[in-house]
Amino acid sequence: MRKVLTIGEVLVEIVATTKGNGFIEAQPLIGPFPSGAPAIFLDQLGKLGTPCAIISRVGDDDFGHVNLTRLRADGVDVSGVEIAPGESTGSAFVRYREDGSRSFVYNIRHSACGNLKPTDASEALIESCDHLHVMGTALSAPGLGEMVMDAARRMKARGGTISFDPNLRPEILNSPGLRERLEAVLAMTDLFMPSGDELFLFEPSRSETDAAEALLSRGIRTIVLKRGAGGASLFEDGLRIDATPLTVEELDPTGAGDSFGGAFLSFWLADAKPELALRYANAAGARAVTRIGPMEGTSTRAELDALLTLQKG
Ligand code: ADP
Repeated sequence: MRKVLTIGEVLVEIVATTKGNGFIEAQPLIGPFPSGAPAIFLDQLGKLGTPCAIISRVGDDDFGHVNLTRLRADGVDVSGVEIAPGESTGSAFVRYREDGSRSFVYNIRHSACGNLKPTDASEALIESCDHLHVMGTALSAPGLGEMVMDAARRMKARGGTISFDPNLRPEILNSPGLRERLEAVLAMTDLFMPSGDELFLFEPSRSETDAAEALLSRGIRTIVLKRGAGGASLFEDGLRIDATPLTVEELDPTGAGDSFGGAFLSFWLADAKPELALRYANAAGARAVTRIGPMEGTSTRAELDALLTLQKG
């Protein structure tokens, strides 16, 4: 089976238990929950039995170990996670506003992962994996961005494949060199997984179908467009499939896109029919939002089957 690699941040998330529009007041908090987009994505792949590994860096602290323990238990190879004594694992504090939108306080830039550099273990993984998943967030920091670009070029040179989720957060949009790195990764991408308007990032066309066709003509094999509570669509050469959203109670949308993406990639790598891959990914995204905590809603195949059966009946 092909093995998936991703490179990027591992952190914990701590969640406020009451909603509010002003600054947060003292209250019970829940967490620390394992988090970081690359980690959530791989946790979903691991739960579906797809071999996968992460290259990252954490402190030798509780926040680092809560992640390593979870990822290992769910089948993710963490041999490429460097443990840095004396440094801290990143964290994010999340508060929900009354309208359901989120406000984050991040402590990532000065975390252990901010000093991520190639190691013998990370080099060995780049040589032994068959697929690289790239996240736009990892491209925003110059050092990490170059490391990801180097891994992407090597993966393609060895005949491997690349998936790409732009995952663009407002705070990274003006990062120097980001646009060039995004374009360079897109040119190597086999599976593109944008959210909403990210579909138009590289092809500002009039319709979704026009933008998707233009992207496919650049050599991308599959595009899956995520639309949150609006479901998802898949585009391949001459093919468009729309997935209607499953009906679920949304408690926490964090991690839905990564759960969706991990599930889709698991089926895509196994050469499943596009309809099937999209159906399971749509279910993984829907199930993810029903749990508080970004990685708490990743799913096993049995959990996805149960949700799909329930919604059919
Ligand atoms: P991202 O976090 O990358 O923006 P989305 O929020 O679009 O990702 O969620 C990914 C996918 O998860 C959606 O395309 C959809 O299939 C599913 N999903 C997300 N939110 C809901 C919801 N409230 N109800 C049903 N499905 C959802």
